[in-house]
Amino acid sequence: MKNLEKITSKNLRGVSAYVPGEQPRGGGWVKLNTNELPYAPSPKVAAAVLKELGKRGESLRLYPDPSSLDYRKGVAKYFKLRPENVIAGNGSDDILNLAFRAFSGASLPALALEPSYSLYPVLAAIQGSKLLRIPFGKNMEIDMEALGKSRAGILFFTNPNAPTGVGFSEDVLEKILKKFKGLVLVDEAYAPFAKYSAAKFVKKYDNILVTGTLSKGWGMAGMRVGWGLAAPKVIETLDKVRDSYNLDRLSQVAGLAAISDASYHKKVCGLVVAEREKIQKFFDALNWNYWKSLTNFVLVEPKNSEGKSGSDVASELFEFLKKNKILVRYFANDKSVNARLRVTVGSPAQMNSFKKCVKNWLAKK
Ligand code: PMP
Repeated sequence: MKNLEKITSKNLRGVSAYVPGEQPRGGGWVKLNTNELPYAPSPKVAAAVLKELGKRGESLRLYPDPSSLDYRKGVAKYFKLRPENVIAGNGSDDILNLAFRAFSGASLPALALEPSYSLYPVLAAIQGSKLLRIPFGKNMEIDMEALGKSRAGILFFTNPNAPTGVGFSEDVLEKILKKFKGLVLVDEAYAPFAKYSAAKFVKKYDNILVTGTLSKGWGMAGMRVGWGLAAPKVIETLDKVRDSYNLDRLSQVAGLAAISDASYHKKVCGLVVAEREKIQKFFDALNWNYWKSLTNFVLVEPKNSEGKSGSDVASELFEFLKKNKILVRYFANDKSVNARLRVTVGSPAQMNSFKKCVKNWLAKK
């Protein structure tokens, strides 16, 4: 089509689509690149999906509940809130997208700290809104004064932070909620591996929107189920831009089954946290720098056998691991982190393969 560019939204000019981590085809990979859980979801999930499907998938004939009410009730119960405080998302990326659409625009900038989740700039650009950035200090300090002065309508606060893994305390979060004049979206994709959920502040503050997901802590990245938690007025606003059937039937029942099995969730997250402490000790022994993680990944700065670090070293180790069918994440184009690799915390067996491969890399030459 000759005039495709002319008829394409101006916002999209110069925008590159978000590039998610690689999902390799074929088996045999140790996949430590997209922060998935190494364990299957609660056994109740598959049972609920099969039950909903019925013998010949008869239920699929009918549209799902547009409001995902049963699932939202389950989420509300888990977080001790009301269903009116909950919006269902097709993954939490869906809610992030809704938030950009509802609370930012051409004359309404959004704000994020830097570095944080690399999807935010893409969503802002598509919406035609400016994404203002406040860089973290050297030791991940937050510039509260700059936050207080910002004229952005919404702040995207990733807690714990991605890609660094650093978690911020309840005190810091409350300071932000008091200082920032707009809506504070707390992106909690990794909170299941941290110490608390900001959900507890939803009743206390009317300027908080907490987003979460079953993708990481519940082992359901393949199902695409998330949530947003906020005061009913904020939820109603987001609902205006939500696709009416944003969660399909199977996702709704799977989501409800997963969120209702709290003890299973606690158990698997505990296993990951224990493994995270072990991999950090391994990095300590090698004298490699990393931020102490409150997530299910560690952003580490590898050193080669000569003690050198940097983007060349990180990229060399990335390739070496990949040749050995171990995938981690390397952000080649982000100067603030391209001397590092982001390693998802997997099962003990996966982490042993990773450690063995790192030792082999150090021993070569
Ligand atoms: N927030 C952060 C910080 C993430 O890293 C991710 C996963 N890439 C998400 C949100 C979205 O996860 P999902 O859409 O699978 O819920």
